[in-house]
Amino acid sequence: MHLAPRILVTGGAGFIGSFLCARLLEEGAEVLCVDNFFTGTRTNVAHLMDNPRFELMRHDVTFPLFVEVDQIYNLACPASPVHYQFDPVQTTKTSVHGAINVLGLAKRTKAKILQASTSEVYGDPEIHPQTEDYWGHVNPIGPRSCYDEGKRCAETLFFDYHRQHGMEIKVARIFNTYGPRMHPNDGRVVSNFIMQALRGEDITLYGDGQQTRSFCYVDDLVDGLVRLMNTGPETTGPINLGNPGEFTIKELAELVIELTGAQSQLVHKPLPQDDPRQRQPDITRAKRALDWEPTVRLRDGLQKTVDYFKELIAAA
Ligand code: NAD
Ligand code: UDP
Repeated sequence: MHLAPRILVTGGAGFIGSFLCARLLEEGAEVLCVDNFFTGTRTNVAHLMDNPRFELMRHDVTFPLFVEVDQIYNLACPASPVHYQFDPVQTTKTSVHGAINVLGLAKRTKAKILQASTSEVYGDPEIHPQTEDYWGHVNPIGPRSCYDEGKRCAETLFFDYHRQHGMEIKVARIFNTYGPRMHPNDGRVVSNFIMQALRGEDITLYGDGQQTRSFCYVDDLVDGLVRLMNTGPETTGPINLGNPGEFTIKELAELVIELTGAQSQLVHKPLPQDDPRQRQPDITRAKRALDWEPTVRLRDGLQKTVDYFKELIAAA
């Protein structure tokens, strides 16, 4: 007999997944972490391995999985442009075949299921800030499409399983999230800038650096995910989860230089194709439905992230 909820976290050995697994264990759940270690690592969850309620399984979600669970958080998917463009066909398969497999599992086990979707479903948005009822402005055939369209198709599958099979689904649209355990070489802006600053290298601004992003600290994001999962069946989302504080990429670079005390210079590199010009979540829906809003200021979250990368460099 199972008293503690049995929770599957796909992509659980990744950056966000590792914090989510820890949070669910703290709340007393049994956690099954499934990952193919494409971008995630065993090291990310090494601190959880001694917990008897934690289990780690190597598995690729593009193949079916037969386990018994009460809840599923579907996070499996590389998130950084460098990694998701490395093998774009596999990226689409991970989102689409992965969604079909975990939805099938949820249908058989009657589990609640949450999809880690993304602000990328809005593409290069024409409305600002982005609300959930905006359908997006996405290139279907560009280098980012494997990720954007894969995630859009996964949302479609979640809502069709919900309508067709009456399943309890939750769709979170996650905006740029950062924190310790980001992969140091994943090419995302926060990890890139901090690693460049700590090594005394030039900081690479793509384009003019005036494009904006809104950065959410990982603890805040994980809290939003758990609150969304714990809502009743009437709450399906999609719900934006992100920090509405909006910064230009140049402002981020200057803050990283200040916090690290680095002597790095800002240098300009070409802007990648289809790079969104602006991004800021409207979180009215999350505030209302989840009583949630981020609490960690960018400066404070960045400081924790800088400290993590300093330790990583010292240990190397
Ligand atoms: P991450 O790359 O650190 O984590 C993804 C995890 O999924 C990794 O552990 C990876 O090994 C695993 N994975 C990839 N393909 C898999 C497969 N086929 N089978 C099993 N496991 C697989 O990235 P993250 O930042 O932790 O992102 C987690 C989720 O959140 C992703 O779905 C991502 O799209 C979504 N998301 C993240 C952000 C962000 O800013 N971090 C923003 C929007 C959405
Ligand atoms: N960026 C940058 N320099 C870098 C890495 C990224 O200027 O070294 C920019 C990138 O062009 C984008 C923003 O930072 O405008 C965020 O990039 P990231 O890859 O972190 O995520 P995205 O939000 O684009 O998926």
